Amino acid sequence: MRQQVNGHGSGSDAHSGGESLREELQEFLGGEALLHQLDDLTQVNPVTLETVLRCLQARYSADMFYTNAGCTLVALNPFKPVPQLYSTELMQEYHAAPQPQKLKPHIFTVGEQTYRNVKSLMEPVNQSIVVSGESGAGKTWTSRCLMKFYAVVAASPTSRESHKIAERIEQRILNSNPVMEAFGNAGTLRNNNSSRFGKFIQLQLNRTQQMTGAAVQTYLLEKTRVACQASSERNFHIFYQICKGASADERLQWHLPEGATFSWLPNPERTLEEDCFEVTREAMLHLGIDAPTQNNIFQALAGLLHLGNIQFADSRDEAQPCQLMDSAKCSARTSASLLRLPEDLLLETLQIRTIRAGRQQQVFQKPCSRAECDTRRDCLAKLVYARLFDWLVSVINSSICADPDSWTTFIGLLDVYGFESFPNNSLEQLCINYANEKLQQHFVAHYLRAQQEEYAAEGLQWSFVNYQDNQTCLDLIEGSPISICSLMNEECRLNRPSSAAQLQTRIESALAGSPCLGHDKLSQEPSFIVVHYAGPVRYHTAGLVEKNKDPVPPELTRLLQQSQDPLLKVLFPPDPEEKSQEEPSGQSRTPVLTVVSKFKASLEQLLQVLHSTTPHYIRCIKPNSQGQAQMFHPEEVLSQLEACGLVETIHISAAGFPIRVSHRNFVERYELLRRLRPGTAPSQSADEGRSERSPRAEQATLQALFQDILHTLPALAQAAATPGDR
Ligand code: ATP
Ligand code: MG
Repeated sequence: MRQQVNGHGSGSDAHSGGESLREELQEFLGGEALLHQLDDLTQVNPVTLETVLRCLQARYSADMFYTNAGCTLVALNPFKPVPQLYSTELMQEYHAAPQPQKLKPHIFTVGEQTYRNVKSLMEPVNQSIVVSGESGAGKTWTSRCLMKFYAVVAASPTSRESHKIAERIEQRILNSNPVMEAFGNAGTLRNNNSSRFGKFIQLQLNRTQQMTGAAVQTYLLEKTRVACQASSERNFHIFYQICKGASADERLQWHLPEGATFSWLPNPERTLEEDCFEVTREAMLHLGIDAPTQNNIFQALAGLLHLGNIQFADSRDEAQPCQLMDSAKCSARTSASLLRLPEDLLLETLQIRTIRAGRQQQVFQKPCSRAECDTRRDCLAKLVYARLFDWLVSVINSSICADPDSWTTFIGLLDVYGFESFPNNSLEQLCINYANEKLQQHFVAHYLRAQQEEYAAEGLQWSFVNYQDNQTCLDLIEGSPISICSLMNEECRLNRPSSAAQLQTRIESALAGSPCLGHDKLSQEPSFIVVHYAGPVRYHTAGLVEKNKDPVPPELTRLLQQSQDPLLKVLFPPDPEEKSQEEPSGQSRTPVLTVVSKFKASLEQLLQVLHSTTPHYIRCIKPNSQGQAQMFHPEEVLSQLEACGLVETIHISAAGFPIRVSHRNFVERYELLRRLRPGTAPSQSADEGRSERSPRAEQATLQALFQDILHTLPALAQAAATPGDR
């Protein structure tokens, strides 16, 4: 007997409706022509990759972009505007529906379900929505739409005064999107608006379920993009916005004449929808970033663009610093003036390295090679941009975050950079794909494994559904004692000169036993392959250790501390008095925290938060890699379905129970019954651990409690309506 309905909690009616529909279809049309009418993939028969694919393709052709897949929602990217799908009226419809899961599958169903769960007496816990999918699949779009949904259904009744703009909090929360995307997104080979940072936004709700605020947590911005863009890719949108959208006066002030070219601004002719400066400015204003502060920000960004045009010539004499190229003199002057730094100090910092060595920490100065000058220039830009981004996030948080005592629960939305594989992959892609592996593992652990283990533990008849566990890949990346991360960290710690080829050899020999490590014999450059759950990716080892170290010469920070610019003064405050100005020698310094170790720690924190919530999953699927509407490439979709284990998910959902309530919550909830009907099945205290009771005993208690519920429903309804009784 099938015990279940599907995971969005569709009632059995919806399911039997699906059964009869399926039979009808098969009888009259061989099950093909009306395949698009199957709203839930648990209804396709048999559930195989091929039938699931055919169903999704049929739905895509019929402009049906959302399909339930048991506990997850599959979202196909339409790659075209579908305004009627995201109207306020439709949001209200899902919100008002007695059973939203009976409406057409939609992200609003997930939004509404989550919203109801927060207040539900069954699961009064925080919720999270994990939006996953490869780059360009539609994660950011989806989370933006969900934020709009909550802004409508959880609108607060009052407005707050903020920096002269009285504005509703939910509007301010929505305004954080264009600002964060302008500074944190960029056009890549895979997506014109690719998120180059991870984001977890916590929408805070009060007891009456109104949104009182939000808090944003970001993860590892790909700051290298400021100074280095792969061919056919772009820098962060904000740079194009200021160059295209500045007024005539601003152009003069920021030294951005029409047609100026910047080496850090590739492909400026490619105009994107995201290039709208006005939208960013307006949103910043609404978040409390006033016009003079904005002016400082954009002026500093223009300073970085000019910094990127600074070029040095090779020095003939190693003892002499490299000279500035004639063509770059103007750029150096302009950059220094926009960053409000003394020009000679700026150049000297780029050209000359300060080394402290010996017991006395004597100071030596050493001219840098041309390559070192370039590295220092790039490092300066990354330093400013990364601090600016973090500062913006903190300003946004202070503008939207509610007082701790004004909210009780939250709904978290997770939108991280999607899995990616480029011709040239480096530390950035390794981190991005590592984050995606962690999220996949969360899904596997939470749903595929946990649900089946629980059924087995409770003695239910169950034939185990096999699924792809990505633990082996995670062991390869982050495992202990030896993994790719540990080997890279070791190289940083030893601080020894190590070539790209040596790193490749070390990784290959130390981790040879891992089935997820591969080698590309045809590769001209040192590299290794990681077989991720979403596909194999080749990472080049050149520069990997250096990027992991992410060294910032102390002179660069000291230089920026001398800026007269009010914004840079905030971003680079003077060192505290007691801290020694003297930095130890760069050579002997042991890096405490590498990029991957910091990233690993932040991911672990994120997963802890996710584990403390009831998660919901939306799988975004990219129907084609060209970003074209009405184009469905079965083989591309197939590999995404395989990668996320969708078929296994459907099997487990189709055979599983519709809802799961923790013992603790159940007992807390129905404790009331015991009080109303003394003498019936005794309930344990919510704090008593499950481990002390056998599953059968627990089941007996639950059954007894169910009997209670049936007998006491009228009394229960009355009691629930009286708040004091809970
Ligand atoms: P990345 O991992 O690179 O950040 P992503 O998964 O966040 O990728 P999005 O930026 O959300 O991808 O989507 C890529 C593009 O696809 C959007 O800019 C938009 O043009 C289009 N798109 C996505 N979802 C929809 C939708 N529901 N309706 C219309 N267009 C969409
Ligand atoms: Mg995105």
